[in-house]
Amino acid sequence: MYQNLFNQYEHFKESRIYKRRFSESLWYELIQEWSQKDVFEVSEIGKTFEERPIHQVRYGQGPIRICAWSQMHGDEATATKALADIFLFLSQKADGFDELRQILHQNISFYVIPRLNGDGAARWTRETALGIDMNRDAQSLFSPEAKILSDWADAIQPTFAFNLHDQNRLYSVGSTSHQTHIALLATAGDEHGTWTPSRIRAGKLANRMYKNIEGGLTNKIAKWSDEYNSRAFGDNFQSRGYGLLLLESGGAAWDLEKHTLRKINACLLLDALYSIATDSWKTESMELYQGLLTNERCIVDIKLKNAPLASGKNQRADIAINLKEYIDEEGEIAYAWIIEDLGDMSIYHGLQEIDASTFEYASQEAIKKEGVYTQLLFHQGEKIAFQLSDYTHKIQK
Ligand SMILES: [Zn+2]
Repeated sequence: MYQNLFNQYEHFKESRIYKRRFSESLWYELIQEWSQKDVFEVSEIGKTFEERPIHQVRYGQGPIRICAWSQMHGDEATATKALADIFLFLSQKADGFDELRQILHQNISFYVIPRLNGDGAARWTRETALGIDMNRDAQSLFSPEAKILSDWADAIQPTFAFNLHDQNRLYSVGSTSHQTHIALLATAGDEHGTWTPSRIRAGKLANRMYKNIEGGLTNKIAKWSDEYNSRAFGDNFQSRGYGLLLLESGGAAWDLEKHTLRKINACLLLDALYSIATDSWKTESMELYQGLLTNERCIVDIKLKNAPLASGKNQRADIAINLKEYIDEEGEIAYAWIIEDLGDMSIYHGLQEIDASTFEYASQEAIKKEGVYTQLLFHQGEKIAFQLSDYTHKIQK
């Protein structure tokens, strides 16, 4: 089913949402539209600290209850975009997927909070308006949004729950040179990491999801460390028996808006719903999932090996350069380059690695750690051997 959905994705892509940071007016327009479709029940289940409405979208009349939420962290919107695609898919007809929708509608009840932390989304921050990281608030429930999420899940008592996030683009699959595209985690519900029935459900489903994507993304899937943290919603909900699966969208080279990962998210989640609706997840083992390498931080955007650090001096070192995201004057996500670190960078893999041992550096200003650059030039004799702006052009927006 995954591959079928993947091939047909353009027919259910919600193209009005393109970038990760989109306007609030567009968001309310979409909520309004979903509420007018017969297949959904849209309701306001509470308000954020700044009184933004928190909406639930419900689909299906089946006995298996599933819940999902996105943008608990305000600046992590890849899965939110994927959920908009899923809602478009669920509201369409006569596209060859009617039978799938019928199976879903009859067997599952899917409860979704597509955007939980609207205050954080508005200012493009991880935290809530109060500066609270909601994913460390599952126990104390200080933030109103965490309380709403907790009460909501308790009322639903789901068999499966999807906790949808973005992670830093530069995580690697173990210490390899592969950038983690998607990270999964069947969270632990106690400090011993006991494989409770709830965790086993999540682990088996993760196994299926991994099998689905590995064909297209060999070695690009990792799992998060499963160290128990009762303050995190994933772990806390697993201890409540909610079949919690964490899904994180990582990075895909220069696709900074994560269009590829959004598509994978949408198809993966729809396939997971199908698997739950048909009970096929029950026949999965957990072997592949358990064999996944954990997320590590061994990637940098550009690594220059043995590069000159100043003009006229024979001082060289490795240079690690990363993209740094910021919000420009128009409120759009923009990127600058930052010298992340200098010295022996042999433990890092560059998305782009360049041997700079024959490069010369002409500028009067020495290269500085944590310096922000729009241009950086190295020569080989008369000719330009490297210019940072070439890589700026590769950034896919
Ligand atoms: Zn997050």
